[in-house]
Amino acid sequence: MTAAHEDQRPASPPNHARATRWVRAGWLIDGQGGPPRRNMGLALRAGRIVRIGPDCPEAAGGVDLSHATVLPALIDAHVHLVFSGSLDPQVRAAQLRHTPQQSQAAILRHLQEHRRCGVLAVRDGGDHRGDVRRFQQAHPGKADQPVHLCAACAAWYAAGRYGAMIGQSPPQGVSPAQAVAAHMEGGDHIKLIQSGLNSLDRFGHQGPAQFNAQELRAMVQAAHAAQRAVMVHANGEHAARTAIVAGCDSIEHGYFMGAENLRRMADRGTSWVPTAVPMAALTEAPGLSGKQQDVARRTLDHQLEQIRQAHTMGVNIVLGTDAGSQGVNHGHAVQQELCLLVNAGLGLAQAIGCATCSAAKLLRLPDRGALTPGRRADFIAVQGPPDNLPESLSEIEAICIGGTWESR
Ligand SMILES: [Zn+2]
Repeated sequence: MTAAHEDQRPASPPNHARATRWVRAGWLIDGQGGPPRRNMGLALRAGRIVRIGPDCPEAAGGVDLSHATVLPALIDAHVHLVFSGSLDPQVRAAQLRHTPQQSQAAILRHLQEHRRCGVLAVRDGGDHRGDVRRFQQAHPGKADQPVHLCAACAAWYAAGRYGAMIGQSPPQGVSPAQAVAAHMEGGDHIKLIQSGLNSLDRFGHQGPAQFNAQELRAMVQAAHAAQRAVMVHANGEHAARTAIVAGCDSIEHGYFMGAENLRRMADRGTSWVPTAVPMAALTEAPGLSGKQQDVARRTLDHQLEQIRQAHTMGVNIVLGTDAGSQGVNHGHAVQQELCLLVNAGLGLAQAIGCATCSAAKLLRLPDRGALTPGRRADFIAVQGPPDNLPESLSEIEAICIGGTWESR
């Protein structure tokens, strides 16, 4: 058992918010990667967990989840909230023409989908007009947001290269680092796009990097000077290496980046968000030729092998789905990505750790992720033993958000 202790703070005057309430969990996965623990009690007070242990006073009443597995609320570290996961090219094109009002409504709808699936924090990977950052600014207290939202201050790509759908390029005559520094208001992090998409015509094809090593380093430094973390879209060996060496906080996608880069990331503590589910979606996407679907299948297999290697090397793997991509639906995709992490060789509790503790660390949310005394009482319960996970996430029985039960 991990350190469980009674909250030692002096008792406050009794009222509803301050009363201690108990939850009896049949199985508990705490998000820190350890094995599930059987028959645990969680004491909640004022929206926080104050005690976890094998004892749970019968007389205290409380919520009985002794038939269920309790795990931390999930976190998706890579989404695009302005887009849905529609497979229809016309729907996708129409989303790019959304008015700002339509876009705000879509963002809210997608956040609600996350919440229904037990995903209570997301990190957005950028949009072409900065609508997600605007949404965040319009809801500054976060209380009226269904899910904690980490928005990009801006997403940057090099003019003429991939990225117009999800970001902007530095204006002419302005260096990339100056552009980054000039768009730091609002938002939580910076997104940099350092490569293109994966080719579905040539397996393993690696395009050139977008920014050179000096430019990238200066962009990362500008972001870090403003206390903003940097997520870098990078596929291929060279693009990933320049991003890691530049000191980025996380590599996004990282297809075909190779073992050398994985070792660098393990050494430097760079996180990896491998987003396997969009490639899995492409293996069945309509409109692709049989050959393209085959390339997608081989690319997915290659990525799962990289995940296996990264896990062995001790890379900090964080779950992100790229929800909003073709065939990748907000909320639901987290369960699919968990299945892929397990397929790649991670244990169930370790895969859940990628979507909870590791993600909370990357998103700088010290209050979330693990179920330990002192943190927010954010957790979900699914029917039956942990063996039914991740599939049992399709039918979440209960969600507790800051100590309050969400009606299902
Ligand atoms: Zn993305």
